[in-house]
Formats: sequence, C-alpha cells, structure tokens
Amino acid sequence: MQYISTRNKEVGHTAAQAIACGLARDGGLLTPAYIPHLPKNALADLCGMSYQQRAVYIMSLFLEDFSAGELAGFAAKAYGPDKFDTAAVAPVHTLEDGLHCLELWHGPTCAFKDMALQMLPHLLTASLKKTQENKTVCILVATSGDTGKGALEGFRDVENTRILVFYPKDGVSAIQELQMNTQEGNNVGVCSVYGNFDDAQTGVKRLFSDEQLREELAERGYFLSSANSINWGRVLPQIVYYVSAYCDMVRDGKLEMGDTLNICVPTGNFGNILAAYYAKEMGVPIGKLICASNSNNVLTDFLTTGVYDRNRTFYNTMSPSMDILISSNLERLLFAVTQSDKEVGGYMEQLAADGRYQVSETVKNAINRHFAAGCCDDTNTQRVIGEVYGKYGYLIDPHTAVAFDVLARYRRDTGDETPALVVSTASPFKFCDNVLGALGQKEIADGLGVLDQLTETTGLAAPTPLASLKDKTVRFNQSVAKENMVDMVLGMLD
Ligand SMILES: *Cc1c(COP(=O)(O)O)cnc(C)c1O
Repeated sequence: MQYISTRNKEVGHTAAQAIACGLARDGGLLTPAYIPHLPKNALADLCGMSYQQRAVYIMSLFLEDFSAGELAGFAAKAYGPDKFDTAAVAPVHTLEDGLHCLELWHGPTCAFKDMALQMLPHLLTASLKKTQENKTVCILVATSGDTGKGALEGFRDVENTRILVFYPKDGVSAIQELQMNTQEGNNVGVCSVYGNFDDAQTGVKRLFSDEQLREELAERGYFLSSANSINWGRVLPQIVYYVSAYCDMVRDGKLEMGDTLNICVPTGNFGNILAAYYAKEMGVPIGKLICASNSNNVLTDFLTTGVYDRNRTFYNTMSPSMDILISSNLERLLFAVTQSDKEVGGYMEQLAADGRYQVSETVKNAINRHFAAGCCDDTNTQRVIGEVYGKYGYLIDPHTAVAFDVLARYRRDTGDETPALVVSTASPFKFCDNVLGALGQKEIADGLGVLDQLTETTGLAAPTPLASLKDKTVRFNQSVAKENMVDMVLGMLD
C-alpha cells in the first residue's frame, strides 16, 4: 500500500518511509492512499484473538513492508504484562445496558498516549532500518505533561534510540513532574525549560530547524526525529482498540455481530477520533462518531457550522490534554472526505494565513454523515464526575467526563439511543485534585498525598506506576533557558 501526502497525492511512499519521515516535505500529513476493508468474517475471527493478535492483524493490512512475525514481536513488547496491568490491554467496562466505557489507561503512564507510544518506537526503528538509515535516532519532545512521559516510557531502552524531553518549569503538575524526573532507562534525558509550554515548544521547534546542530549531531551519529501525534505510526495503533472493543463486546454478549455502536471521544488534536473513523471505514459497524471538546470548542463549531476558526480565547481547563486550538489530524479527515490534495492544501493555506477556513457545503454534509459534536465546560466536567460516581460507583477523570457529558446531551437532543462507547483517556488518579474536588472534598492534600486521599475517599487503589512514584529516585533536575537548549542537547548526546 502506498502512502501519500494530504497536500500532494502524486508522490507515493512506502509505509516505512511514511513512518520514518513523520511529516511530508510539503507540510502535509502522510496517509494511506486508501483504507483497506476488513475481509468477510474477519471481525468474527478477531473475536477469538488476544489484543496483541488483533493488533498484528489490523496493522498488517496497512504495513505491507512489515512481516507478521515482525509485528508480532512489536506487539508482544508493546502490550505485554510488564507494560499493561490487564491482559485485555484496553478493556470495555459496562455501566448499564447500552452505555459502555473503553479504558485506554492501563499502560505504564496511565493515559491513552501509551496505546500508540508503546508501539511507535518499534515501528520507527524498524522503518529506519528498512529505509537504510543507520544512525541512532534522537527523539526531541516538548510536552505539557502526558506526551512526554508516554514517549519516555515508550522509547526507554529501545535499541538505537535516544529521547530528550523538555517540559515547562511552570507548566506541569507535581505528579507529572515527578513522573518525568524519575524516568528510568539508559537512553533518556529530561530537562525543564524556564517559562511556559509555549517557551518549551518554541525552543524545541528551533532545535529542529537548527542546521548547524543537525550537522554536528550527524557527525556524532545521530539523526533528529519527533514522536508527534501526526506520525502515521501513532494513528495506526489507535485503530486497533476500536476494532478490539467491538470484538470484546460481541464476544461478551453486549452486542450482536452487526449491531451499530456509537462512539464518543474526548478530543484535542483529533488523532484518537480519527482512528475511530478509520475503523468505521474498514467496516466496523460504527454509527455516529461524537466529538467531545472542553471550552476550547473550535471543533464543536467546525463540525456544526463548517467554519474552522482558531481566532478565539484560549482557556486553561481541568482537561489540559484537550486545550488545543489547532487540531492537526483534522487535515486527514478533510482529505478522506474530499479526496482532493488541492482543496485540503487550500484550506490549510487559509488556516496558516488567517487562522480560519470554511469548507464547502458538500464537505460539511459528508462530514456530518459520520460526526456529531458537543462541548463541556469545567463546571459541568466536575458535576459529571460526581454524577457518574454517584450513579454507577465508577470513577472517571476530567477528560472522560467531558465525553460523558457530551454523549448525554447528544442523546437528549437527538433521541438517538444507539448503544454507545465512551472513550476513557486517563486514569482518574492522574488528576486527583480536580477529581477530589468533584467528589466534594474541600481540603486537598499536597504533592503525592493526593493519591492516598483519593484512595481513602473512594476505596480504589492508585495504579502501580503512580503509587510507586514515592519510592523512585529523582534522576533529572536540570533547568535551562530556552536560548540555551542547544547546549543541553549537545551535552546529553556526547
Ligand atoms: C492526548 C489526550 C487527549 C486528546 O487526544 P487527541 O488524539 O489529541 O484528540 C485526551 N485525553 C487525554 C488524557 C490525552 O492525554
């Protein structure tokens, strides 16, 4: 199968080239030339398989230049019992008839980024070998929290890789900082940058465009790359859990084979919900894809009006991984519905120039056949955490709460009571402060004390990767001004 750019479909790439490059040279996103359809009876066959076997089956359809044996090795390393605390990997929890929750936070960092970032390092290093790149790949990441830790865990001790993570000194929670600074592994580095997330991100972008640094690193045997969510190697592993969830539900008698399932996804960069759309295109009986946003509701407006406009106030919310005004992966959806590189290129030019574009009525209607959308502010997020806990005894994090609220409103407004799967993207223990607040706690403990407090309040145990933080040694405590990040990189890659 060929991969093409969303802004130029003339030039074809292999899967390995697409994963090795990350981004097309024209600025577009490398995307499969077509979405393969599941063979007849494939879903029934997949019902009898493990998560790892399902991953190999689905990924093989997109990665013709990788053997099944190779992919099986990756799946065993990425989703094994040393990484995930349940053999199901991504289990479906049922709250009541017709209301289910897909838990994507059983991995080593307790957030859904693990589902892709545990697989990406294996896909990336193998892709580099296939494209004859024999340097050590050095991943640079700027993070506001979840991605940095997810990438560190994914790349730790993976052969021929180094990873350096920069986070804003004033921009991550105490738990997130400790998660990164205690990171184990012989190929990892972590450093804080004075300032906010923008400072860290601007600094990392500057490193990528620094030709002198690139040359110096090439001489030392390094090759710079990113673990960004627009890499096809991050989108593909996410398709797997949608197929897998449907199979689990059929296997467990929660759905009959062929029944329609609506899916509601808390969305930021549009990567997670895009993977659900691809699963639908492959033939999984998915009905509406419901896109849930927080107060940064640029996608809600786009999906209801056809106008994408990033010229608006940016809000810091209690679901920070969705605080995004440019949803990069939306470009792949525009390409899928228009099949026109020219049209997509035009929209993206307008976005770069004016921060805004409007799609044609045809495109809007095509998108609305599959997608619905809604948003939820912090007040409602907290209310929903309390309600879901009160009604079902089920504890959810703020990102997941946004999706529960948007699904409830969608059902009220449309009367569509199709069985629905809400995607849960983080363990509630990652966001103890706001979860405790939602449960009515007035005094919130300091530092790691919040973990015990949430356990005392709910009787639930904190996930091991978070509970064990108190026994870990801090390995990294350097801070740097954003002007001096080059020296830090050169110092860490001797
Ligand atoms: C990254 C993230 C999201 C948003 O996912 P996208 O693929 O960017 O839409 C939602 N919730 C959590 C907890 C995340 O870490």
